[in-house]
Order: sequence, then C-alpha cells, then structure tokens
Amino acid sequence: MAIDLRSDTVTQPSPGMRDAIAHAPVGDDVYGDDPTVNSLEERLAQMFGKEAGLFSPTGSLANQLAIRLLVAPGEELIAETNSHIVRAELGAAATFSGVTTRTWPAKHGLLKASDALEIARPDSGPYLVSTTAIAVENTHNFGGGTVQPLVEMRELRKGADEMGLSLHLDGARIWNAHIASGVSFLDYGKYFDTISVCLSKGLGAPVGSLMLSTKERVAKARVWRKRYGAGMRQIGLLAAAGHYALDHNIARLADDHRRARELASAIAAIDSSLIEVSGVQTNIVGLDLTSLPISASELSVRCRENGLWISALGPKYARLVTHMDFDDSQLAQAKEILKKALVA
Ligand SMILES: *Cc1c(COP(=O)(O)O)cnc(C)c1O
Repeated sequence: MAIDLRSDTVTQPSPGMRDAIAHAPVGDDVYGDDPTVNSLEERLAQMFGKEAGLFSPTGSLANQLAIRLLVAPGEELIAETNSHIVRAELGAAATFSGVTTRTWPAKHGLLKASDALEIARPDSGPYLVSTTAIAVENTHNFGGGTVQPLVEMRELRKGADEMGLSLHLDGARIWNAHIASGVSFLDYGKYFDTISVCLSKGLGAPVGSLMLSTKERVAKARVWRKRYGAGMRQIGLLAAAGHYALDHNIARLADDHRRARELASAIAAIDSSLIEVSGVQTNIVGLDLTSLPISASELSVRCRENGLWISALGPKYARLVTHMDFDDSQLAQAKEILKKALVA
C-alpha cells in the first residue's frame, strides 16, 4: 500500500464515522428540515462565537460565499500573495462576484498587520478601486502550515475598524492552528466578520465546510448557495461525519504535528538546506529544493517509485502533509524512502 502524503484530504472515513453517517436523522435541507445539518451549523457557529453557520460542499465555496457578502462587484479584496483564495480557487472571486484582488507577500505566509493595512485603500473615489475586505489564512497552506500570530490579528482588526474594512478568515486548517498554539476557537473567531472552516482536511470527514457569520449574512449566503447550485437535500449524512470529526479528531492532530516534525528532522539531517525544522508548526512539511539538482516533480517521481506519494507544488517546492491515516510505522518507511530519493 502506498503512503500518501500529498494532502490531508486523502483520508478514508473511519468505521465509527461511517456508522455515524449511516444512522444520522435527515431531512430536506433546502426546506431547512435536516436536524443533523442544523445542529452542526449551530454547533460550529457557537464554537467560534458567531450567530449562525451554513454547510457548504467545499471550502472554496464557503470562502466565496463570504467574499460575495463582504465585497461588492467592482470592489477589492486584499490577501497574502500565496493564499488559497488568490492562488487555488481558480479566479472564483472575479468570476462569481466581479471582485478584484490585490496581494501583499509574506515570508511563510505569516501575517503582519501592517503589510495588509499599508496596501488597503478604502473609499478610493471615482478613479481607483476601493478595498472593502482583507482575508487571512490560518494555518497558511502554501506558507507551510504556519500559524498566524494572535497579536497580528488583533492589530489587523484594530486597523480594519479604523478604515471601515471587513475581515475574512480562511480557517480551512484552524483546527491545526488551535492545537499548535493553544489559542481557543473563540479567540480566533472574534476578530473576523466571516469565517470558513473545513471538516474534510485534518479532521477526516469526506465532505464539508462551513461559512460562519451573523444571522443576516448567513441567510443571504443561503440564497447565494442555492443560486450557485449548491442547495442540498438530505445532507445530514454528511453533517453526521462532521459531528463525528469534531467529537473525535481534533485533539489527535497533535500526533500529525509530531510526525510532521519528525519527517522534517529526518529530511534536515540529509540536507539542512531543504527545510527549517523550527518552521514546521503543524502538519505540513514544505521542501525547498533550490540547492539540489532535481526538480520537485522529479523528486515526487522518485518517491512514488518507492511507494511514497508527495506533491510538487512549484518547480522547486515539494509538499508532504501528515494526516490521520499516516501512522508511526509508515513514518519510519517514509523517512527511508525520502533518504533514498534525496541522496540518489
Ligand atoms: C483546502 C483549502 C480550502 C478549501 O478547499 P476545497 O478543496 O474547496 O474544500 C480553502 N483554504 C485553504 C487554505 C485550503 O487549504
């Protein structure tokens, strides 16, 4: 069996999760009749201190529903250069909402409030695009799973309030940030007007993300979700997997983080230019191959031939992501395969 570290989305629903799915009470959610999805929406809204939540099939759609509500057509959203919203949602903000984006670069994707606030231009008048919202990603995926500092989010909120800007949190991996930092979900939630969270990443659900915000915004998002063709029926089946994931799979993320650090240490022992071990804060291990003669895709081919699947996300950037279906014996094998592939 191959060891698959391409992403934390590759996990199989566990027997317990499948059991929860099988026994979930359901109803037609377009009529608001599904008790399991209703309770999941309430549960997550409460966890993050928001009034309401809306189930979405993907994190991309949860982000896009939030953007749709915060930014009017012709206005601007600003975000970090390598954020998922900017790089990995295929221009959805432009396509769905007529929204332009402008970006600031940050090392490892780490937020400095001043970077965002310095490029924000609210109320730009009749000639220039007006900024209306700022998006923050926590943890930062392409930054290497980095955890955003709470002090910077507090500063960002302060500055955003002074400028009249809204803040969106792309919290696809907020669970990992919480486990790594000990910061509560309420503390992460309180600086943002809208939040997206994914149940299908480290928490191991097959499908499911939620957009969290005020009752008013969530009611509008429900209309937009239907308009985009994602009004769903008996989705308590999916929501039951989400409840199960929240009950069982948050605390165990610490194991994924430990295994990611161990992988990083093993790689640094082969060649310390490949990775800064102290930069591995959660479950993502990003390799910088600039000092090696091979490309990321060549490395991924070498690994694959030996039974380890990794991602080549840039010409010289490879990514390994630990998850709940990756255990200590696979960790030992992965280290050996990487050693062979990197030294060859
Ligand atoms: C995975 C991810 C999303 C959402 O992805 P979907 O595949 O659309 O569910 C959003 N933001 C970040 C940072 C992600 O890693």
